[in-house]
Amino acid sequence: MESDVVIIPVDAHLLTLTISKFEIIERPVSVGSTTHIQRERVQRKNEIQTQRTAASLMVSFTAVSKIFRAADIDFRLRNTSSESVEAPKGSEALDDEGFLMLASGFPMNNNAVSLLLVRKFAGSEGGASAEELGVCAVGDSSADTALAHEFGHLLGLEHQGDIRDLMNRGLSVPGAPLTRSEIATARASPLARRFGVSR
Ligand SMILES: [Zn+2]
Repeated sequence: MESDVVIIPVDAHLLTLTISKFEIIERPVSVGSTTHIQRERVQRKNEIQTQRTAASLMVSFTAVSKIFRAADIDFRLRNTSSESVEAPKGSEALDDEGFLMLASGFPMNNNAVSLLLVRKFAGSEGGASAEELGVCAVGDSSADTALAHEFGHLLGLEHQGDIRDLMNRGLSVPGAPLTRSEIATARASPLARRFGVSR
């Protein structure tokens, strides 16, 4: 009997958010015997880099795999790259709106969904997701269950009221199992069908 585990490859983007600021500095300039003050416009760059690494992501993916095993779905880290992008709205922390601004630049391709890793996420939960784009994001302080929660959204799962559920709004409980209906929804989702084993 062939296994019908759905393997969903993930391309992880370790992001550095850059914030450029212009400052006016004054410096004395001597011409002959006279000195005058010259004003110059200089650019200062602030870089906010995720502390995650390919190795730490592998550990997180192991935890995520345990949760989705119940649905025979396996998110697999396929590629990790480091990239620099301008911080949306010039903010050190990514919020829901900033995420959507970035997400369109990292859409899911034919081979993998996109995971954006940022130092700080300050949205309505520890991360965010755009199911139609196949992109999600988490901050460095987000737990592995938050990562699993965002993957859950990519699989079409909606928020549940039960505090023990992975898909509860807010903080998820470590090791929260998927419910029967969540498993059915996830298996039937466009994402699972896209990467599903053809039989
Ligand atoms: Zn959520």
